[in-house]
Amino acid sequence: MKNKLKIGGFTFSVNEVSGLAESGSVSFDKSIILINKEQSDDRKKSALIHEIIEAFSEIYNLQLPHQTIQTLEAAIFAFYKDNF
Ligand SMILES: [Zn+2]
Repeated sequence: MKNKLKIGGFTFSVNEVSGLAESGSVSFDKSIILINKEQSDDRKKSALIHEIIEAFSEIYNLQLPHQTIQTLEAAIFAFYKDNF
């Protein structure tokens, strides 16, 4: 997993951490994505996709409902797994 990602022109640091209540989180103020270390590699990838979509929604003002973010996470993760 890369530890820096540019999303919409902003550089986010990506850190795997223990003790996170959720599978992942994103802070726009600090430009930090946190991924829960205590999950499988596939769950980590899916969580990262989720947080990237959260960032798209915020940066591009898409105002995506959380259910839509979760569905896109599942769809993009499956597409990635099935084709790469
Ligand atoms: Zn979310």
